[in-house]
Amino acid sequence: MRDPIGTGKRRLGVMGGTFDPVHHGHLVAASEVAARFGLDEVVFVPTGQPWQKEHRQVSAAEDRYLMTVIATASNPQFSVSRIDIDRGGKTYTIDTLRDLRAANEDADLFFITGADALAQILGWRDAAELFSLAHFIGVTRPGHHLADPGLPGGGVSLVEVPALAISSTDCRERVARGDPVWYLVPDGVVRYINKRHLYRDLPPADGTG
Ligand code: ATP
Ligand code: MG
Repeated sequence: MRDPIGTGKRRLGVMGGTFDPVHHGHLVAASEVAARFGLDEVVFVPTGQPWQKEHRQVSAAEDRYLMTVIATASNPQFSVSRIDIDRGGKTYTIDTLRDLRAANEDADLFFITGADALAQILGWRDAAELFSLAHFIGVTRPGHHLADPGLPGGGVSLVEVPALAISSTDCRERVARGDPVWYLVPDGVVRYINKRHLYRDLPPADGTG
């Protein structure tokens, strides 16, 4: 799987997400794909206002950004980008990839996405152009079926990653109930959640995630 396109270019993984909060499922997926695909770097890109989640209050972008920085700081292959946050407005993956493409002309892009998000990808804005900007890598996620959504021209690879049945929704609900999130998210993220009193007063669960 290393350099399957054979371009010899820098190989940049892109992990988009709301990261509210970032958890070990995200980190394991990025780490596993980086190893399997010989990526030089994985950039985590926290969303601005995510259009899929307009029905619930998403934590402040700066809190989500800082938690992602805390979670990734110790890994020299991981970085965090502010492009979606600084662009403002709703985040569309097409804008993320166009901006990363422009800022990294020397790189091939590999967009990493869980099985749940991959299943919806054909409905994303400018889907046809999306697949010309990056190679898509769908990863397994407990509770979701991983399948090629029918992307044109071999645009997607499916990868099994260690199964971690963790979601940000569950982490938020745990904090709201007073249950622990230790070992579901990195220690520094637990401390940040406590310091900023995040997720204490959630409205009733809406059943999405
Ligand atoms: P929420 O419950 O708020 O939707 P989430 O846990 O799904 O949060 P997101 O920020 O929505 O996290 O996900 C970012 C990306 O990480 C998506 O592509 C998602 O499919 C993937 N992902 C999230 N959790 C896991 C996991 N446990 N295993 C594999 N992939 C995951
Ligand atoms: Mg999600």
